[in-house]
Amino acid sequence: MTAPDRGGPQESFNFDDSQMLSTRLRDLVEITDRKYGFPPKTYSRCFVGSDAVRALIDENIAADEDDAVRIGNMLLSAGVFHHVVKEHPFKNERLFYRFAADEDHGQTAKKADGTPVSWSDFLAPVTEIREPALSLQPAIPERDQDLGNFHQDDLDTIGISPLDVHNTALLDCAHPKVWVNPTPKKKYNLVVIGAGTGGLVASAGAAGTGARVALVESHLLGGDCLNVGCVPSKALIRCARAAAAARDASTYGINIGGPISVDFAAVMERMRRLRAHIAPNDSAERFSRELGVDVFMGRARFTSESTVEVDGTTLVFSKAVIATGGTAAIPPIPGLDDTPYLTNATVFNLTSLPKRLGVIGTGPIGTELAQAFQRFGSDVTAFSREGQILFREDADAAKVVEASMRRDGVRFVFNVTGIRVTSVNGQPPVKIVIEREGTEESHEVDALLVATGRKPSVTGLGLEAAGVMFDARSGIDVNEKLQTSNPRIFAVGDVASRYQFTHMADFMARIVIRNALFLGRDRVSSLLVPWSTYTEPEVAHVGLYAKEMAARHIEFTTYTRDLADVDRAVLEGDNGFVKIHVRKGTDEILGATIVAGHAGDLISEISVAMRAGMGLGTLARVIHPYPTTAEAIQQIGDAYNQTRLTPFAKGLFRKWLSWSH
Ligand SMILES: Cc1cc2nc3c(=O)[nH]c(=O)nc-3n(C[C@H](O)[C@H](O)[C@H](O)COP(=O)(O)OP(=O)(O)OC[C@H]3O[C@@H](n4cnc5c(N)ncnc54)[C@H](O)[C@@H]3O)c2cc1C
Repeated sequence: MTAPDRGGPQESFNFDDSQMLSTRLRDLVEITDRKYGFPPKTYSRCFVGSDAVRALIDENIAADEDDAVRIGNMLLSAGVFHHVVKEHPFKNERLFYRFAADEDHGQTAKKADGTPVSWSDFLAPVTEIREPALSLQPAIPERDQDLGNFHQDDLDTIGISPLDVHNTALLDCAHPKVWVNPTPKKKYNLVVIGAGTGGLVASAGAAGTGARVALVESHLLGGDCLNVGCVPSKALIRCARAAAAARDASTYGINIGGPISVDFAAVMERMRRLRAHIAPNDSAERFSRELGVDVFMGRARFTSESTVEVDGTTLVFSKAVIATGGTAAIPPIPGLDDTPYLTNATVFNLTSLPKRLGVIGTGPIGTELAQAFQRFGSDVTAFSREGQILFREDADAAKVVEASMRRDGVRFVFNVTGIRVTSVNGQPPVKIVIEREGTEESHEVDALLVATGRKPSVTGLGLEAAGVMFDARSGIDVNEKLQTSNPRIFAVGDVASRYQFTHMADFMARIVIRNALFLGRDRVSSLLVPWSTYTEPEVAHVGLYAKEMAARHIEFTTYTRDLADVDRAVLEGDNGFVKIHVRKGTDEILGATIVAGHAGDLISEISVAMRAGMGLGTLARVIHPYPTTAEAIQQIGDAYNQTRLTPFAKGLFRKWLSWSH
């Protein structure tokens, strides 16, 4: 291994350098508890600066002492290690330093027997889990006497139910019953507020480079995606597909021999089980123990331009990231306050299926859940102010999905101009009175889901104290580098973007790690963000829409391949299309919409092509296995190549073929 370039930390030190050096140095120095001062105080898990200098020279990582000290200071400023007592430069002296990974990062409180306190210690399972014929469960030890004195969170605030074995396992990861916050470090390289995708990626990535990182979460690690968003919704959608396939079985010559019934409780239990299975990835324990992030459970609030307070504890930062996401936006519908309704925060808590479900809003969340619940057996009516579902999408694509949902039995009420709801004593059923085209009509449902968009979480954060500009509707103002009006503070994810997707929060966080800690110049506008709605069929999109190009006077040509002409789609019974827009007269791809069973997977091929500057002509030369739905893309490439044959060229080909045969 060679020493990093001597141009100075900013130019020469990147993630790989610091990670490689950090790993190497840890192997070379002796990390042990050391005593210092009078009376002597023990400093745990530290190494000596002069030992590190010697090791760097002996291993030819540094040319001489100056070089070794310089490397040491670069690692220090990147947050790989810190002086154990105070902010202190790295020196060739008997000074103690500690790797960030060896610091106290917080932990789940332990019971007398040494095992971690769990939610399940407090709460018996509510729902049944299927018992194996022979129980292998050993007798459980008596409960710890002290547990009764532990603080118990208000479960309504946690908002996850039922508290069965799966949800208690989820909460053990996402919000440990008793979490002991670490002693805050003097100063953090990065303080991250919010542990949804944006916050988790930002803190894991920064800690991976050696930075000293604090992550603050008030509610559930994993944020919306894990707890009340992508993960539970996609788990339900999988079951809904199974139900639809079973109902449709006779189309494939399969005789079920009786009516299909959906065990909704089992569907929801599967979802809870799988969500709990995924949860350890995002857990407080993993982030503190494995990734070396200081995890604080509590509500964060800025108290100045460089400090954050969490439950009375002050965290001082060089840089901070706001990743507080958003929550369901509830419109001011008359009567709603006195009526029971669900949002994405509560719908996944259901254990019994509403017979009739009203869904207000036909964006991605409303549409996905409306179809899923209809397939489970609810009678679903979806209401929208717009004249189509998924109104941001290509209208042809939305029509295909709408037709599929109507076939499932979903009813749509479009162009709603007024809506009010009532219920008796705040109990179901709920009466929904809507106005459209000058008339009123009334619908009665047993449950109401409000899916009318998301609102950024900006209140109570002390943004004014931090000098961070924001807007209650659009969220935190950021520049291209995702920097807020306070240049030390960055914002990522739903709180700072119109593209409210997990993968967007993820990539914004990656940008911020580079820009905040490594003087990077990554620009958010350079991202190409595809997305998908997971109805059946799915609708996926990347790049520009036709209507947008028309408005921007961009000349383009559209190539469409109907899946009715694609062998695999025909065999699968898949319907939809692939539509690709190219700049007029060229094969440069400007945008694409795919409607297909797995459109969300297929769109990546177009995203790759667009990122790599690969045109349609090149896609035609990529061999796609037969039979696959992705062949539709290659066939569009062929169609483009056909257009390049001028009548003159075609005439020449014809002549050549007649001569040579
Ligand atoms: C039903 C549904 C389905 C979805 N499906 C998909 C999908 O299939 N694909 C996709 O890409 N996206 C999907 N999304 C969107 C996706 O969930 C979000 O884009 C993503 O979660 C945004 O991540 P984030 O980190 O910005 O915020 P969040 O995940 O919202 O996390 C923010 C975190 O900050 C915490 N917080 C807030 N304020 C404070 C404070 N003051 N102090 C401490 N902590 C605080 C919150 O408790 C929360 O945990 C879906 C969303 C929903 C609701």
